[in-house]
Amino acid sequence: MVIGRVADAVGRGIEDVTSSVAETFLDPVIRLGVTGLSRAGKTVFITSLVANLLDRARMPGLEATQSGRIQAAFLQPQPDDTVPRFDFETHLAALTGPAPFWPESTRQVSELRLSLRVQPKGLLSGLSGPKTVHLDIVDYPGEWLLDLGLLDQTYAQWAAAALEQAKTRPGGASYLAQLNDLDPTAMLKEPEAQALARAYTAYLTTAREAGFSDCTPGRFLLPGELEGSPALTFAPLPESATPRGSLAREFARRFEAYKAQVVKPFFRNHFSRIDRQIVLVDALGAIHSGPQAVEDLRQTMAGILSAFRPGRNSFLTAIMGRRTDRILFAATKADHLHHTQHPKLTAIMEALVRDARDRADFAGAKTRAMAIAALRATVEETRTHNGETLDLVRGSLLDGGKQAAFHPGDLPEDPNALMVPARQGAEAWLDADFDVMRFAPAQLSLKPGEGPPHIRLDSAAEFLLGDKLR
Ligand code: GDP
Repeated sequence: MVIGRVADAVGRGIEDVTSSVAETFLDPVIRLGVTGLSRAGKTVFITSLVANLLDRARMPGLEATQSGRIQAAFLQPQPDDTVPRFDFETHLAALTGPAPFWPESTRQVSELRLSLRVQPKGLLSGLSGPKTVHLDIVDYPGEWLLDLGLLDQTYAQWAAAALEQAKTRPGGASYLAQLNDLDPTAMLKEPEAQALARAYTAYLTTAREAGFSDCTPGRFLLPGELEGSPALTFAPLPESATPRGSLAREFARRFEAYKAQVVKPFFRNHFSRIDRQIVLVDALGAIHSGPQAVEDLRQTMAGILSAFRPGRNSFLTAIMGRRTDRILFAATKADHLHHTQHPKLTAIMEALVRDARDRADFAGAKTRAMAIAALRATVEETRTHNGETLDLVRGSLLDGGKQAAFHPGDLPEDPNALMVPARQGAEAWLDADFDVMRFAPAQLSLKPGEGPPHIRLDSAAEFLLGDKLR
């Protein structure tokens, strides 16, 4: 069997390994899911990862690069014809052009195939010649994972919980005010339905901007190609009778349609096929927004990660073809901090996903937490101020482009200094402030073979892919 395969591979030669459908079918494929809430950094991560796998001089932490076993990397047509392609070239041009800017963020699911020609390790490696490993990167909004929770709920249950949340969240009052004079049992009028859906979306957007992450239905914020469709034209109403043709009845029906025609197909077509997953988290952004945002993020992470325990949900159990066996939780934008603070950010990331991670571990997946920057926009600097040594990061500000050196505040040694007040519902951090500056991507002059600068992107790649490149 082995000899047959070896002889076959040698016989085929290297160049045409991917040249026919049958052979491509035999090559190993890794489907890497990249998710995270809106603005967590998915687009920047994928762009930089691919650029750094194409030009690998900055990837020593990926063993297959360090040992020289990756002989070539090239982009190929993706296997799924109906999924939009991740627009790598446009995004890379944005980040690495003469006047660099941040690319447009993820709005929907997209995909990109990068193929790596790798010399295997081990006894027979000399005989078998290089193998081609396809990396299919699937980018999708984390908000869509939260919708999994809707599958277990009826419209009435979801609406009751959503209205309860709206009472305390920014923007909620104006949506609730719209319900004051409304009779849910009255006959449906489409303009009224649309106005309600718009008002509910506006509230979710406000809550999201204020740092709340658990905002369902996920497609209301990131509708993708479904914008304006009836499956997205409903909103929570107070419990009422549901006479035929009424607003309440139609909204309940549309909620069911949303579950069946929007949520389930996403899980079936995309999520169920993922082998490896990275969940990007803007933990610094949440810390900057305050304790409520941190607690909300913690709960949202639990919601997102429950999707990785298929046993929890009968629909998921039925559709999961393979199991996601590695999950990386990455706190992004670590370049906002001096490296001396990175271990603290990692500890906070671990604390944030603690509950969820324990459960995923239980399900057999290998998990890790890390602090990374997919694209390093700053350099480090140490200054003395009033006799005190300050570790700073310097970069050009997104607003106006001026250079600024900046100390975002000291993260605590013990993550509980943040997690406990967050859980207890504190209004603000007691004794510290955490600032976040928005830096523009730095102007780069890349040497041949170099990808864009990053922090620990290579370690992330090693955890996610390293074993498949052996
Ligand atoms: P997405 O919504 O998850 O696709 O998020 P993006 O990848 O578009 O990132 C959102 C924003 O976060 C970007 O526009 C940048 O301002 C910032 N960002 C993302 N990654 C990094 C990073 O590695 N370093 C820095 N400094 N900022 C980043």
